[in-house]
Amino acid sequence: MPKSYQLVVIGAGPGGLCAATTAAQLGMDVVVLDEQPSPGGQVYRAITHTPAGRSALLGADYQRGASLVEAFKTSGAQYWPQTTVWSLNARRQIGILRQGQASIIQAERVIVASGAMERPVPFPGWTLPGVMNVGAAQILLKTSGVVPANGTVIAGTGPLPLLVAWQYLRAGVSVKAVLECSPTNNLWRAAPRLPQALRAGDYIARGLKYTLSLLNGGVPIYYGVSRLQAKGSDRLETVDFGWERLGIARRKTLSTDSLLVHFGVIPRTNLTRSAGCHHVWDRGQQCWCPQVDAWGNTNVSGLAVVGDNAGIGGARSAEHSGRLAALEAARSLHLISSQQRDRQGQADLNWMCKDLRVRPFLETLYRLPDSLLVPSDDDTIVCRCEEISAGEIRNAVREGHTDPNQAKFYLRCGMGPCQGRQCAPAVAHIVAAENQRPVSDYTPFRVRPPIRPLSIAQLADLERAEE
Ligand SMILES: Cc1cc2nc3c(=O)[nH]c(=O)nc-3n(C[C@H](O)[C@H](O)[C@H](O)COP(=O)(O)OP(=O)(O)OC[C@H]3O[C@@H](n4cnc5c(N)ncnc54)[C@H](O)[C@@H]3O)c2cc1C
Repeated sequence: MPKSYQLVVIGAGPGGLCAATTAAQLGMDVVVLDEQPSPGGQVYRAITHTPAGRSALLGADYQRGASLVEAFKTSGAQYWPQTTVWSLNARRQIGILRQGQASIIQAERVIVASGAMERPVPFPGWTLPGVMNVGAAQILLKTSGVVPANGTVIAGTGPLPLLVAWQYLRAGVSVKAVLECSPTNNLWRAAPRLPQALRAGDYIARGLKYTLSLLNGGVPIYYGVSRLQAKGSDRLETVDFGWERLGIARRKTLSTDSLLVHFGVIPRTNLTRSAGCHHVWDRGQQCWCPQVDAWGNTNVSGLAVVGDNAGIGGARSAEHSGRLAALEAARSLHLISSQQRDRQGQADLNWMCKDLRVRPFLETLYRLPDSLLVPSDDDTIVCRCEEISAGEIRNAVREGHTDPNQAKFYLRCGMGPCQGRQCAPAVAHIVAAENQRPVSDYTPFRVRPPIRPLSIAQLADLERAEE
């Protein structure tokens, strides 16, 4: 029999940390699994060992993570860093890889808090050396203080490019330009949602602060950027783009050896989909999300999802949803009554309600147009692992492979080492556009374990252990 725990939490970001801390305080036997070497998740990455100077440079929001980690450390929850979860099923059996050893553990309750990933958006030249994600660049800054030596151009949508540009400015890195790729008329569509967003907290004020600091620091910001292209013979040399000023379309080329891109974040659904959770298409977030109730419960018995994994809500909402799922776990294990759960969870429910008021504004402001979601250039590589282009996918659809999973079987897009993480959304958008149907009509790529690469030797070892 696999070793069994009352509660296994997957992910040590704000959602997982708060879930585990609350659950341990309520007397549960809790294990937290995370592939990172230290707790904090994406937002508070490396918070336990970042030097004071770098931590100050990253800002007060980053430093908030220290108190979450401190509370977690003293809660009594077990923490297994550098532990990768490679499978999860509806019986709450979890395949893990820890210190090179694969094994299966069993849980009475599972809270999946594996967070979000940056939305992959293929565009001409995105595979050139020198082009990378804003999030990846921020990981280098947080963990090692590494920054682009010759400055950088930052392109995309959402609050993260602004935040990272601001952090770079404070670090003395030359930000040559910020290219905002959402259509300018999004602003008018978002405007009616602004009053509600202003009641969510200081999100809008922070966005303005970053923008003003960048402008004061001499960083040009181009709005309404379209037809983004990274160019170079064997590495990035220039960035080409169209942009609008006063309704007039223009074109510009910038010389740079570094382009950082970001097109929002989407939940990591590979674990929840392999466990058989229902997912729904979120029109606002333009992605699939696991269907959860207010306590994070899914349709799979004993399996809850919290934080950005359940739909993008940001770090503060992740904390509250983690606590709510822990209270629900305690109720289901008869450690507290339903009344106690409801009473103790009320403040978190209220907080989440307030915090999430900003989302409709942000989702409308940063809504991606079809021209970004569906690469128009046939030569653009979509599946990086198998080197499948947008044109090949369109041809496959015309030949009768009219569903993303059929295109996957036929072309192998999504079958490489990343298991479709980098191409699944784009393949679905291309197939849907070619069939002139909404992308929500299509089932995403089916997920099969292992969801992370595992060697044959590691799998064989697992079998021996089970025998
Ligand atoms: C790259 C990136 C950078 C971001 N930077 C910021 C920022 O600077 N400021 C900000 O406000 N928001 C940022 N965000 C958004 C922010 O991450 C979230 O709002 C917040 O961290 C959500 O918390 P969470 O607990 O849901 O997930 P996360 O903080 O993402 O934590 C999830 C954890 O799960 C672990 N995990 C995932 N899959 C597995 C697996 N298979 N096995 C083991 N462990 C696993 C990860 O290692 C991670 O530690 C960023 C998002 C991304 C994707």
